[in-house]
Amino acid sequence: MNSILQHDLNDLENILNQAKQQGLDFLNNLENIPTSSKNRIDPTRNLSELGLGSLAALEEFKERLLPLIVASPGPRYLGFVTGGSTPASIVGDWLATVYDQNTQAVHAQGGVLALIEFETINLLLQLLDLPKTFSGGFVTGATMSNFTCLGTARQWFGAQLGKDFAKNGITETINILTATPHSSSIKTLSMLGIGSNNYTTIKTIEGNREAIDIADLEHNIQNLNGKPFILISSAGTVNTADFDDFEAIAKLKEKYTFWWHIDAAFGGFAAVSNKFKHLVEGWEGADSITIDCHKWLNVPYESAFYLIKEKHMNLQIETFQNSNAPYLGNPLENFNYLNVLPENSRRLRALPVWFSLLAYGKEGFQDIVEDSAALALHFANELIEEDNFELLAPIRLNNVCFTLKGDHNQQNVSQFLTSLNDKGKVFMTPTVYQNRKGIRASFVNWRTTENDIKIIIEELKETILDLDI
Ligand SMILES: *Cc1c(COP(=O)(O)O)cnc(C)c1O
Repeated sequence: MNSILQHDLNDLENILNQAKQQGLDFLNNLENIPTSSKNRIDPTRNLSELGLGSLAALEEFKERLLPLIVASPGPRYLGFVTGGSTPASIVGDWLATVYDQNTQAVHAQGGVLALIEFETINLLLQLLDLPKTFSGGFVTGATMSNFTCLGTARQWFGAQLGKDFAKNGITETINILTATPHSSSIKTLSMLGIGSNNYTTIKTIEGNREAIDIADLEHNIQNLNGKPFILISSAGTVNTADFDDFEAIAKLKEKYTFWWHIDAAFGGFAAVSNKFKHLVEGWEGADSITIDCHKWLNVPYESAFYLIKEKHMNLQIETFQNSNAPYLGNPLENFNYLNVLPENSRRLRALPVWFSLLAYGKEGFQDIVEDSAALALHFANELIEEDNFELLAPIRLNNVCFTLKGDHNQQNVSQFLTSLNDKGKVFMTPTVYQNRKGIRASFVNWRTTENDIKIIIEELKETILDLDI
């Protein structure tokens, strides 16, 4: 064995304790760590002949790389849709690394660890009150979940026309209908060879809405003259957290032949709260659903899952099978994740979620969701008390979409946001909503409190004064 590796092995306890201390220093101080950083490194460091050993590498990390790290898992990072990590999720994530298992199969020779993933998916279905007619698995993010779901939808579309696109490539135009797709679904159309231009945009409901206009949807369906299509719908748009009407879509599904996909990356968690459950009513009728765990479930990156109706398992296997012979046996006996999703080798990705669900239960996540929504509302109410801001949309769940008041201030929005973010106390992201430049604040972090809202409002006011807007 290489002598430095041998040394590290002998010193393992000390090394892991130091790493733990490093982690605690960060987590215990998260409130005070800036949410943005202007530090940079010169990434051209030479690889030395002799290794440093873990402890010296940790020292160099602290000195050179740590200054790049920002408090994105902290309570005032409201950009994109960014969760943090709960204690239990960190335990699960650390142990997934320590045990370092390749998680694919549930039959003895391939290892049985996929059973942990089955159990975790089963717990998630209970959390979200979804039926067991869905099967699911873990991928790195909602983008890959959309890819898995829409890849299977692509195969379904081919099958409607008697074609096997997975084997022979795409030989027909695939009809895709959608109103307010997330950018990652469009990226997925590119990755799947469908083409990122090749979808039909359905109108949204009149007024301040991003949800699909059902009448326009039906009109477009009728234009297809009975041809099959794929519908990409939204449970939680990123700007205004708007939801399509799933009960109405479920009714359409009784009349027309289509694959129904829901991108519920963060909005799916509305289902854990009696207050917000109505937003996803009817979603169990979908063929596939995308949900992120590294957002509202507050587990570390990279964690998301897909749910696809079990009855479509053959289409999923035709798309992702890693063997030449299609596998058609009993999924519980011979099931292997490498035949149903993009990756082959995978870590024990379910473990952070498993620990979180056991540690905090239904009520824990109901509280996170309801607290986030209450904080979003509270922030919005505080904002409109100020002279300088206006909301661009009502608060439906956890996202606040706002801007500087008045059209004359449209030119100041970017500079305002840059200055605000540079101060490092709060982080938000820009958007354009209904042709106006805006700012998004998304509440999903379990650590955020009312005191943070106070700090954020002060920061906003100060930035206005600094810029003399
Ligand atoms: C965040 C998000 C995605 C993309 O998720 P990743 O985890 O970054 O891949 C897709 N759809 C919606 C609605 C999202 O909010």
